[in-house]
Amino acid sequence: AAKSQGRGNFQFFSSDMNAATHERLLLESRLWRALEQEEFELHLQAQVELASGAIIGAEALLRWHHPELGTVGPDRFIPIAEESGLILPLGDWVLRQAVRLLVRWREQGLGHLRLAVNLSARQCHGGGLLPLLDGLLAEMAGHGIAPALLELEITESAAMRDPESSRALLRELRSRGLKVAIDDFGTGYSSLSYLKLFELDRIKIDRGFVKDIESDPNDAVIVAATIALAHTLRLQVIAEGVETAAQRDFLSSKGCDEAQGYLFARPLPVERFEALARGNPTATAEVRPDGSDPT
Ligand code: C2E
Ligand code: MG
Ligand code: MG
Ligand code: MG
Repeated sequence: AAKSQGRGNFQFFSSDMNAATHERLLLESRLWRALEQEEFELHLQAQVELASGAIIGAEALLRWHHPELGTVGPDRFIPIAEESGLILPLGDWVLRQAVRLLVRWREQGLGHLRLAVNLSARQCHGGGLLPLLDGLLAEMAGHGIAPALLELEITESAAMRDPESSRALLRELRSRGLKVAIDDFGTGYSSLSYLKLFELDRIKIDRGFVKDIESDPNDAVIVAATIALAHTLRLQVIAEGVETAAQRDFLSSKGCDEAQGYLFARPLPVERFEALARGNPTATAEVRPDGSDPT
């Protein structure tokens, strides 16, 4: 019976569903086992203070290495994890890993580094986030790690999905001393007035604006105005997706505080990032775009 059922399922997939739906179902079924099979890994992308050029922290970016599918990018699996609910245990795992990294840094002379973690909409609006964070904050306190070294990134669109609940959450996060950044700033088609509504530390200018700073005068004006507006509201600004020295210099000249992008470093496996943060200039050499090491 199982065999004929399996065959029936296959016919159902191939005839009634398009390739995209099929891929989705395939990834979803693999995703649920991926957590217990330890197929996830965090890569770290350096965040740089523009005035000094110093690495002041990193953003944790999820990677999924499936034995047959290879490395699957978060743009493909995060939306599926979000819809299926897997993002809740996965997001918890990311936060626990992040705190393990902060502890390790504290013990290994990298205790000045901040670590930013992406939160999904579902994580923000479920009830489990604050209890988890309270446990993790107690662990951090036990190691003498300031809450401000953990930053939570929430996309503009996730925050705007339920502005009242987001507002309450951000206030709770900041009352604990955690840092909060709005990710992908400028892409959410939302009114700037929410900047007044939410308690924030930082906005991350989306790489879509940074990309064309040199060629599109509109983007240059938007970026410059965003930096000025943020500073007026006493928010820090980090630009993402900085790939060229010209982009960096423009951002610097407009007073942008920090930057992140391939110009400085790609997302790297943890040890490689740590070597880079210790000042080893060869740390980024010979790393493929997915961060893997060809050697
Ligand atoms: P994001 O949070 O906006 O992360 C920045 C993305 O831009 C990363 O893509 C990073 O690799 C890429 N990037 C960085 N610098 C450059 C650059 O100079 N040029 C270009 N072209 N790209 C650059 P990635 O790692 O593929 O992640 C994509 C998105 O997946 C993230 O966007 C974030 O929304 C989501 N994501 C990643 N990890 C997590 C996670 O742990 N939890 C959740 N909820 N979402 C995550
Ligand atoms: Mg992010
Ligand atoms: Mg972003
Ligand atoms: Mg993005």
